[in-house]
Amino acid sequence: MQDKKDKSKAALLKEKLFMNRKNGCRKVSADDVKKADEFCEEYKNFLNQAKIEREAVIYALEAAKIAGFTEYDHNMTYKPGDKVYVNNRGKAIMLAVIGKNGTHNGVRLGIAHIDSPRLDLKPNPLYESNDLALFKTHYYGGIKKYQWPTVPLALHGVIVMKYGTVLTVDIGEDENDPCFCVTDLLPHLAVDQMSQVMTKAFNGEHLNVLVGSRPFNEDEESESVKLNILNILFEKYGISEEDFLSADLHMVPASKARDLGFDRSMIAAYGHDDKVCAYPALMAAIDTELPDSTVITVLTDREEIGSDGNTGMKSTFLIDFISDLAEADGEKARHVMAKSTCLSADVNAAFDPTYASAFEANNSSFINNGAVITKYTGSGGKYSTSDASAEYMAKIRKILDDKGVLWQTGELGKVDGGGGGTIAKFVANLNADVVDLGVPVLSMHAPMEVVSKIDVYMTYRALYEFYMA
Ligand code: MN
Ligand code: MN
Repeated sequence: MQDKKDKSKAALLKEKLFMNRKNGCRKVSADDVKKADEFCEEYKNFLNQAKIEREAVIYALEAAKIAGFTEYDHNMTYKPGDKVYVNNRGKAIMLAVIGKNGTHNGVRLGIAHIDSPRLDLKPNPLYESNDLALFKTHYYGGIKKYQWPTVPLALHGVIVMKYGTVLTVDIGEDENDPCFCVTDLLPHLAVDQMSQVMTKAFNGEHLNVLVGSRPFNEDEESESVKLNILNILFEKYGISEEDFLSADLHMVPASKARDLGFDRSMIAAYGHDDKVCAYPALMAAIDTELPDSTVITVLTDREEIGSDGNTGMKSTFLIDFISDLAEADGEKARHVMAKSTCLSADVNAAFDPTYASAFEANNSSFINNGAVITKYTGSGGKYSTSDASAEYMAKIRKILDDKGVLWQTGELGKVDGGGGGTIAKFVANLNADVVDLGVPVLSMHAPMEVVSKIDVYMTYRALYEFYMA
């Protein structure tokens, strides 16, 4: 180590004026690394148990109840420190901790999404073709379609019978379960396929899932492979083909979350986007005790397809809840919103050295450099995004720096390289201050995504310190 007096004038001035861009691992204590590793053990369980939004709500609800959250009732009055939840149709959930000042100074919002890209079954999915039984799917969210064939898939979701009975489906996760898959063409016969552009080589109607191959019996009936599958489903669930019409069924990768790397510094899993922010947000909500302003954590649905629908952030469910809380305090929701602040907890793309040309390194987020703050997302000249104000950025910087949270900033790739969005703009449209904060992800939206354990833990810390600030 050099002594301070031995450093050159330039080195000292650099220290004072340049941003510290050391590898994040060198900036955090051994204790923080240990805490990050411990924090991520249960995160991996969450990933395995919560592959779809409904399962994430079940997990969150159970954890919240244990932590003392009770179902919100707008006819009740609540006092500072009380913890309540609102379950929106089993697909989105809000957790609130009532603050000392209630809603008078605005509320603190932390919002993450619990839906992830996948293959949804079409309403009429089952068909037989050349003695194979298959499911037609309609992909959900932004996927590179070529990544989904030849990956073991599991079926998750619900079938609701005409008279309301809900059948929960979860097949393919247990190693004794069967799994399913989309097939691909062998390289020997793929001369034509391989010469096509990717968007043509794999299109949405190629994403058919193989689900069976044996006929019902020796009868010479047509479609007897399909009949055999329906008979198995009838025996297991008591359903017939028509019942697919009232179902939410999703094919997701059947893999479990695993440590990645010789050093176990990362996690490989399906669905990090955005469970990797939803889990830290849930833990921050649970750990929040008696905040100054009421803290509301939202785990929302539908983000991957634009936040439309009654369980997505374009719905009024959040503002309606805030209105109820405001009225109880003798406030108007619009006055509360104008003073409210939000962390939109969502992922950003981590710099990938293999695809370096897609990134601008000075403004990219990196694995292990902590929670990434994304001032704006969007595309093509800052279209379709809220852009956090300098004033709000300053506030968040101060909170994170004061509490020693490791964080970085990042844009989503190069200017005009593509783009994307989060729920931030919908919250901004409600007249609150909002910025994106979350975890940098490698291979985002692939059947297996990669994150760093330190970044997951720092996202939890960022949300907690924001809630308690
Ligand atoms: Mn996301
Ligand atoms: Mn996404």
